[in-house]
Amino acid sequence: MKTMQANVVTPDGSVFEGQVEMVVAKTLDGEMGIMANHLPLVSPLSIGAVRIKKDSKVQLIAVSGGLMEVRPDEVNILAESAELPSDIDVARARAAKERAERRLEQAKKDNIDFKRAELALKRAINRLEVSDR
Ligand code: ATP
Repeated sequence: MKTMQANVVTPDGSVFEGQVEMVVAKTLDGEMGIMANHLPLVSPLSIGAVRIKKDSKVQLIAVSGGLMEVRPDEVNILAESAELPSDIDVARARAAKERAERRLEQAKKDNIDFKRAELALKRAINRLEVSDR
């Protein structure tokens, strides 16, 4: 199978790079699966798990939004944050989830704090789902 280069980069540095078979990412329009020779595109990413198929195994990465750039031989994910399962601090994500849930109960629906807490909750749940512990 033809492979392509996949890179996942955050402001803190590179989280993944390698030749891969497929990248599945959650864009604002829904899940998108990319293989070599895909048409070029740039798409904003939601908070979600990126799944990268390499040597027939799947690598999960928790991503908190950003941009995906697709070229025929390359996928670049520029993420606000990105963690491999083994790098996720589960206690921290659980604490963030509880904090966000409390804030959601206190804040009024459409105010800024409500939206911030909603996003924090999504990031925490995503990390807990991607974590391998
Ligand atoms: P918290 O409230 O715990 O800081 P957060 O969702 O607000 O969570 P972010 O702003 O998304 O955190 O991330 C800030 C930095 O901390 C990023 O580098 C991110 O990779 C890292 N990070 C956040 N939560 C975790 C976690 N549970 N495990 C490992 N790294 C994390």
